[in-house]
Amino acid sequence: MKAARSVLREPALSSDWEMVVGLEVHVELNTKSKLFCGCANRFGDEPNTNVCPVCLGLPGSLPVVNLRAVRLAIRLGRALGCKINPAVFARKNYFYPDMPKNYQISQYRQAINTGGAVKLPDGSVVELERAHIEEDTGKTIHIGGSGRIKGAAYSLVDHNRAGVPLIEIVTLPQLYTASQVRAFVRELRAILLATGVSDARMQEGSMRVDANVSVRPADNSELRTRCEIKNISSVRSLSRAVVYEANRHIDLWSTGGSPDQETRHWDEERGCTISGRSKEHTEDYRYFPDPDLAPFIFSKDDIAAVDAALPLLPTARREKIIAACGGMITLETAALLVERDQDELVINAVSAGADVKRVITRVVNDLALDDWAVVTPERLAEVVVMETSGRISATQAKKILVEMVEHGTDPEAVVAARGFENVSRGEIVSIVEDIIEKHQDEWQLYCRGDATDRKKMSSFLTGQVMRATKGRADGATVSRLLHQHAQN
Ligand code: ZN
Ligand code: MN
Repeated sequence: MKAARSVLREPALSSDWEMVVGLEVHVELNTKSKLFCGCANRFGDEPNTNVCPVCLGLPGSLPVVNLRAVRLAIRLGRALGCKINPAVFARKNYFYPDMPKNYQISQYRQAINTGGAVKLPDGSVVELERAHIEEDTGKTIHIGGSGRIKGAAYSLVDHNRAGVPLIEIVTLPQLYTASQVRAFVRELRAILLATGVSDARMQEGSMRVDANVSVRPADNSELRTRCEIKNISSVRSLSRAVVYEANRHIDLWSTGGSPDQETRHWDEERGCTISGRSKEHTEDYRYFPDPDLAPFIFSKDDIAAVDAALPLLPTARREKIIAACGGMITLETAALLVERDQDELVINAVSAGADVKRVITRVVNDLALDDWAVVTPERLAEVVVMETSGRISATQAKKILVEMVEHGTDPEAVVAARGFENVSRGEIVSIVEDIIEKHQDEWQLYCRGDATDRKKMSSFLTGQVMRATKGRADGATVSRLLHQHAQN
């Protein structure tokens, strides 16, 4: 761990100080219905349409546990290497206008998942304290003013989100740089997507990250007063927020002051954190076991069934694609492909006989599209083989991929319909000569100009050749021919 810290240190922070971050990540579980009632768990519906007496907290209503939510929680727990405990629910008492029961059903003494860790691509390991199940609150929208409660004319409450199942993942304070914080969120998100536990969309609020930030003198292991930053809506804001907050603490400690333990909000526009409420202590919540919900105990067989259904996780998927590409792929590219769920596409196209490097280039650059999945590994391999054998040009290969995604056409059909057979070398040579003949001014500039002129004229002349061949010539061949001609 020590080594990783110094490598990842952010330049924005003073080298005499170390930032220490722990994260609390709330993630909405991917269920059809809410945690304790049958209302739909769906984002974006008309406000207050997915509600019933249970999630509105009406007197006399009783919660019933959604077993699928609990199974998803255990699935995540197993994926993170946690210990699985019985599901025991507790009431966390506090008042908020978007929480009609005046308590939140959560877990207290023992979370369903304890321990576990997330291994980051750089090899560092972030240990977890717990990952517990709880219900979400409703959503308050403040109208007028800046959109915050302060200065608002009035507030509207939407209860569609009240009772949506959440899992809250709590790390130990083991993140020491902004880039490590970013990597953690990205890796956790990849695990959530791979296991199908959540769609983990930060912009829609189905994944929300709070950061506990403190600082300490470098090479010291004490933990100083921390502040919890809420209201962070993107990975970029998260890393800006933690660095801002750490620098604020450093300034305070360096001038004889100290930060107060409190909740702070990240103000995206001003790029700073602002003081919220002073932090409550757990005893303020008066937790007690929810008398309406009996504990749930899982047998070894239940857990074995969860394990059997676990898909390959991102770490293993990265290792697999790196092995399949025989060292021709970087760790970053492997991570990107796994994130985009395109690792199997690459692996299978390569095993169908296509060139590794070209497959990676085409997928990374030309299949960064939403509907790429219509491109099967076999068809991708077909296109890449056409390209590497010189039958079609790089430009044509890209165009074929676009048509495949848009219309589901097979590569041979695109080649036939568009007349995409590459022009023969002899034909290109004579077309190049012809173009040079017709554009003598540009050609002279190409031959005698400086590097900038040469580059400009090269793309002009290549463009002319492309026009003459209706895009059938290979760009690289054309610029090679131009270069050879200039030498003569
Ligand atoms: Zn309901
Ligand atoms: Mn929580």
